[in-house]
Amino acid sequence: AARASDELIAAADAHSAHNYHPLPVVVASAEGAWVTDAEGRRYLDMLAGYSALNFGHRNPRLIEAAKAQLDRVTLTSRAFHHDRFAEFATRLAALCGMEMVLPMNTGAEAVETAVKTARKWGYQVKGVPEGRAKIVVAAGNFHGRTTTIISFSTDEEARADFGPYTPGFEIVPYGDLAALAEAVDETTVAVLLEPIQGEAGVLVPPDGYLAGVRELTRERGVLFIADEIQSGLGRTGETFACEHEGVVPDMYVLGKALGGGVVPVSAVVSSREVLGVYRPGEHGSTFGGNPLACAVALEVIDMLESGEYQRRARELGTHLHHELGLLPSGAVREVRGRGLWAGVDIDPALGTGREISESLMARGVLVKDTHGSTIRIAPPLVITKEDLDWGLTQLRDSLTRG
Ligand code: PLP
Repeated sequence: AARASDELIAAADAHSAHNYHPLPVVVASAEGAWVTDAEGRRYLDMLAGYSALNFGHRNPRLIEAAKAQLDRVTLTSRAFHHDRFAEFATRLAALCGMEMVLPMNTGAEAVETAVKTARKWGYQVKGVPEGRAKIVVAAGNFHGRTTTIISFSTDEEARADFGPYTPGFEIVPYGDLAALAEAVDETTVAVLLEPIQGEAGVLVPPDGYLAGVRELTRERGVLFIADEIQSGLGRTGETFACEHEGVVPDMYVLGKALGGGVVPVSAVVSSREVLGVYRPGEHGSTFGGNPLACAVALEVIDMLESGEYQRRARELGTHLHHELGLLPSGAVREVRGRGLWAGVDIDPALGTGREISESLMARGVLVKDTHGSTIRIAPPLVITKEDLDWGLTQLRDSLTRG
């Protein structure tokens, strides 16, 4: 008889757009770092929803916060105030060392919000001539899937046949300060960067790059926008990846783990000078900052304030990178990353990233390929050392034994 999973995959293929190519696993339940498929088989989740699940699947504190809020009020729209919003805004701003927040739902919406905010700030505060605002971005970026965001992507797959494209962006090589300095001119309102490029394969910029970007943007009166949607909220061993260079940007863009893997929650967090440019009616979202989102995000903020998850990411991350460094050099070309986050370039002779991911899946470990023969490892920060070691053993065996 056909497996339930196969039937579900076939039905999904028949009735949903093929804009993804998931691994052939159908998750039916999950807890912590583990998921269980429709046949009852367990897998170690070493992707963690692209870092949306930093606190693990169904983290008890987050589930409890959500359940308590479900029994009170879930949605008001911003047409009315609700009693969780003030605390959410105050405490998220404080976590970021900033003054104001603007909540949205998905990462792409928050990036769109950052782009709109930077432009408005440019016209109203910096005095850039109307219609001329430029934002400098990096090659290899991934900031989301909207028409404006893909307009400044360098990934042809993400762009092809989706034009006409939004103007107002200039792309420079990632990690190249001189190129950035060249691109920034008097019409530039912002530099938008991932402090570590996630989708590009967990690319860590050269030492001093982020600090250099900070200095340059400060000198030239340009906003430094850090897209910490994937890198932020504990993943790298600090609350923000920018902290590794002691850098504070002008604006954080947050998403993914902010919603605890329970609800989509994203936000732009910045100063009063920057987010103060908005007047009623100029921007918004029906679901942005809703009571359920605020309740879950408040628990996330509480957990991050303890420092426990950052410490786990730091300690387990040191172990992870040490172990990855011991993989046979014939099988692994390069390992990059920080904290509990790694991009591993496999020798293409051993298979594509997809093939490696499938062989790991057969061994009970879920990871995801990025480009070519790179796989990305980003387990939930709650993973135990024993489970992490077991997952790494599976990786070593799949590379050495197929
Ligand atoms: N920015 C970064 C750095 C991301 O990694 C992602 C998602 O992978 C996004 C933005 C887009 O987030 P979303 O898929 O929630 O729109």
